[in-house]
Amino acid sequence: MISCYNEHLRKDIILNEGEEYCPKCNGGGLHVDIKTTKWLTYSRCKKCLGKGKLDWIEQAMGVNPSTIDVSIRQEFLNEAANYLANKIDKEIMNTIKVV
Ligand SMILES: [Zn+2]
Repeated sequence: MISCYNEHLRKDIILNEGEEYCPKCNGGGLHVDIKTTKWLTYSRCKKCLGKGKLDWIEQAMGVNPSTIDVSIRQEFLNEAANYLANKIDKEIMNTIKVV
């Protein structure tokens, strides 16, 4: 299975059937802003909006910002909810274990 680290999402992304890595950011999800200063700044890739991959519809029509933002936000919310649930479960288990 081919995967690529996406720096915008901070996780590996895996191509599903019919998807390709974004030709602008090569899957990294970031766009390097060229400045005249010595500092490089990064922003979300304008082609894939940080997803790092595109399906054939997105390659032709572009990524719909409303769908990408909702799915990314939902993924982060799920991750946060799982983290908190695990943490709370452990705290409860620890208080039960103490005799
Ligand atoms: Zn991109």
